[in-house]
Amino acid sequence: MSGAASEFLRKAAIKSADQAHRQIIRHNIDQYDASVRRGRSRFENWQAARQKSHEIKWEAINHLDRYLLEFEEKVKARGGHIFWAANGEEARNYIVDLARRRQVQTVVKSKSMAAEEIHLAPALEEAGLKVYETDLGEFIVQLRNEAPYHIVTPAMHLTRNEISALFKEKLGGIDSKEPPELVAAARRWLRKTFFAAEMGISGANFLVADSGMIAITTNEGNADLGTTLPRIHVAIAGIEKIIPRLEDLAILWPVLATSGTGQPMTCYNTLIGGPRQSNEPDGPQEFHVVLLDNGRSELLADAEQRDVLHCIRCGACLNACPVFRTVGGHTYGTTYPGPIGSVLTPHLRGLNEFQHLSYASSLCGACTEACPVQIDLHHHLLHNRRNAVNEADRPWTERIAFKMWRWANSGAGRFAFLGSAGRLALRAAYAIKLENTFFDPLRPWTKERAAPPIPRKSFRAIWRGDLGNN
Ligand code: SF4
Repeated sequence: MSGAASEFLRKAAIKSADQAHRQIIRHNIDQYDASVRRGRSRFENWQAARQKSHEIKWEAINHLDRYLLEFEEKVKARGGHIFWAANGEEARNYIVDLARRRQVQTVVKSKSMAAEEIHLAPALEEAGLKVYETDLGEFIVQLRNEAPYHIVTPAMHLTRNEISALFKEKLGGIDSKEPPELVAAARRWLRKTFFAAEMGISGANFLVADSGMIAITTNEGNADLGTTLPRIHVAIAGIEKIIPRLEDLAILWPVLATSGTGQPMTCYNTLIGGPRQSNEPDGPQEFHVVLLDNGRSELLADAEQRDVLHCIRCGACLNACPVFRTVGGHTYGTTYPGPIGSVLTPHLRGLNEFQHLSYASSLCGACTEACPVQIDLHHHLLHNRRNAVNEADRPWTERIAFKMWRWANSGAGRFAFLGSAGRLALRAAYAIKLENTFFDPLRPWTKERAAPPIPRKSFRAIWRGDLGNN
């Protein structure tokens, strides 16, 4: 078992027994569900909107080369810079070097999962820069020195009392539990950093090919300040964020907002097409877009799983997932938690180390049903399981167990005999009180739960109508 797998199991056991944590997540996701139901009902036909969004992303991903080059040409024509980063290291080096060359000391950052993916903030801090997260949720988890819990709502796991105590300790002079006062305190504190920063780093929800613009959507307006006030704006985005046309936003923006939070539209939707032009009163002097590959080209080459690149990072599959709701976002130990993370991470960070994530699913299909761009998530989890068996290191005991299982199931007599022997052995083990001991054959199950009653007769015997004393 990989280190990541045993860490996942350790944290999952703790979190799933943590009733307070489960109550917070249940409460927040119940509110989200109600809001999304209202949001979807505002569409004349939600399924048609999903289908259209799927088609736009399908077109973009299947013509990625053409649309990315079109985007690059348009950005450069307005004086912007494009950097193609093959991996996280190249992206980090480019941004850190740029900051050094331009004597940047302070950076304000708006939410970007691509930046999280390449651990950009720690790299900048290591280079001696001050980095401030300006999205409220990210700001809170930065104050706690934690990774985001969820890709849309990074501080979903915290109560208002916890946030109040945190602000009191870290920001000083704030003693309130009222959300508007806490938000106002964070705004006051962050405003100073916007004016001090020489560089603003943002993500991009979409890269629009035909206009050469990046589309950013936030609820707090922090990205607008962070990309306008500092003299340098750097946007970092995965190459899969491309969409063909500006008009595609007419469907993708409301679909993203509805699936992300249930809103008809997110509060601030901004298009940025380059540095300040000679006839413009404000905006940055320099505009850089870092196009991040980091394993995405390999995923693109995989025809079976290519549609994973359609993801618009709305977070709906996380909220729908019974495993995410139980074990929580931090347990995954990955940038992208939940179903999309379980599908994507083995591609980005290696199947051997992260194959266990494909098993963190009941395969109920709720994620696939929730996905607004119709990614077949639960089948991709099955594909990853198959790939793990074929390509990754698996324990020899598993291979032997499956060989025995195949042997036992390939003959009716063998199957019946082994079933009877297994029932007898279990009944004997429980009769001499081996339950939940080292010798208990069902120990992984009985460690956390009572042993199920062992039936006297096989299912086939019961099925044949022999319902006697079972
Ligand atoms: S996989 Fe679908 S539901 Fe999950 S975050 Fe991406 S777009 Fe949203």
